[in-house]
Amino acid sequence: MSERIFVAVAWPYANGPLHLGQIAGAYLPADIFARYHRTKGNEVLMVSGSDQHGTPVTVRAEKEGKSPQEVVSRYHQGFLDSWEKLGISFDLFTTTGTQNHAKVVHDLFLTLLDKGLIYKDRMALPYCPNCRRFLPDRYVEGTCPYCHSRGARGDQCDECGKPLNPVDLIDLRCGICRGSPEIRDSEHFFLRLSAFCEQLKSWVKEQSHWRQNVFNFTFRYLTEGLKDRAITRDISWGVSVPVPGFEGKRIYVWFEAVIGYLSASKEWAESCGDGERWRSFWQGEVKSYYFIGKDNIIFHTVIWPAMLLGYGGLNLPYDVPANEFLTLKGKQLSTSRNWAVWLPDYLERYHPDPLRYLLSANMPETSDADFSWRGFVRRNNDELVATYGNLVHRVLTLAYRNFGGRVPPAGDVDEASKAMLAKSEATLRRVDSLLYGCHFREAMREAMSLAQEANRYLDTKAPWKIIKEDRDSAAMAISTALGVICCLKTALYPFLPFSSQKLHRLLGFDGSVEEVGWTFSLPPAGQRLAPPEPLFAKLDEAVVEEEDNRLEHSVLTPG
Ligand SMILES: [Zn+2]
Ligand SMILES: [Zn+2]
Repeated sequence: MSERIFVAVAWPYANGPLHLGQIAGAYLPADIFARYHRTKGNEVLMVSGSDQHGTPVTVRAEKEGKSPQEVVSRYHQGFLDSWEKLGISFDLFTTTGTQNHAKVVHDLFLTLLDKGLIYKDRMALPYCPNCRRFLPDRYVEGTCPYCHSRGARGDQCDECGKPLNPVDLIDLRCGICRGSPEIRDSEHFFLRLSAFCEQLKSWVKEQSHWRQNVFNFTFRYLTEGLKDRAITRDISWGVSVPVPGFEGKRIYVWFEAVIGYLSASKEWAESCGDGERWRSFWQGEVKSYYFIGKDNIIFHTVIWPAMLLGYGGLNLPYDVPANEFLTLKGKQLSTSRNWAVWLPDYLERYHPDPLRYLLSANMPETSDADFSWRGFVRRNNDELVATYGNLVHRVLTLAYRNFGGRVPPAGDVDEASKAMLAKSEATLRRVDSLLYGCHFREAMREAMSLAQEANRYLDTKAPWKIIKEDRDSAAMAISTALGVICCLKTALYPFLPFSSQKLHRLLGFDGSVEEVGWTFSLPPAGQRLAPPEPLFAKLDEAVVEEEDNRLEHSVLTPG
């Protein structure tokens, strides 16, 4: 029976181009998961969008001397372009700047206000007399009161991942002029998070299928108790507050950005011509997965669930498979320090699948993982090309040259070949269950070990040697090997969609891999094959030095 799967993916701030850390953290695993479920015949809705609001965007706009709208429009277009080239298959990638989003946010805000779960209060906030403004979120910096790391912002500490209030920070500094802010009173709305603590604790206790780090981090956080949080800000860029007297303030970006999952679903439903269709992904039998980086865990396992519980009638997350960080040559990727491999740069120079391969094989699922160009070239050449690409090319060329461009008949299949096919079928089942449980790295390893096994099988059978004296045995070996690569095409499709689709065509099939589904089926004897072409290209070792140079001497400001 088919399942319904909602794939919600973190909303990138439209304040810079995407880097590989974000791709490994959220977008690639989400896409692998969505493609896998579509191939299984499940109903999938995968949404996200550009986060247009918040101080990351206004800080950027002020630096560039542009309006926030100009900045976000440019980067949003860049995101769309990157998704297409990298094959990130969103059903909808929208923005938080739509009227629909503001409408959905207002509905949620007013409903929670009505229920007494949002209330008005005064709070002490840093105000810079120099800059003559309140300093929300990224306009203020200081030392985290929990982990004592420097450079924590007014809304969150990047180091320990804890949400903060600006006045909690030690050694407050204005992020614009570096001056010392004074503390002033301002009236704001608060989300009554404290009311949800016990309810959330018992809900989280039931989520034993969550990743250990996500479960533990959330549970510890709840054990420390929940404080109410201000959800409006003294800024003029963002979703308006739907209450008279608050015209000069905006809704806090984190409060409204998570609502984007819901508003995007509604926008998608409208675009399908059935405005109520979003309900099938938010109510009843559906599993919602939220793909995010580890720095966003609390917002998705505590704050968003609290908002959903307060609003009522909508499903809570089923799983939040947050990844750890990708580092670059051992150091944390950083937009501000320009220490990153930018996705648009990569896509300009290389094919998407080798990157998808590397980031899957080295996905930061349970611990941080490191990216280096040396590792990239090595994995491309030694694994993708040498193990998988060569196998495919050898088999297709043997069949094409010796059997008139058609799949040869299997004839009497011997024990070794039967075992090879049985192993393929077992691998497809194993990859299936690993992907179902969001174990991406292991699923990739499983598929690649089938390719290694098939290489050994082919070397033993050596059909190129026996083709003259024993054509039937050669036909059997080639037919078996075609069966294995046909199976690899499916098992690797979620990871390597471009090359799998190409292999699908080279094997003589029409349509798409997704349409055929997650099944073990052999190309029928007599099927016409396409003239063989290599799936992947070997990379020159010089790439390493070239890219390392680019990285070390990059003076580019992103974008
Ligand atoms: Zn901290
Ligand atoms: Zn200042």
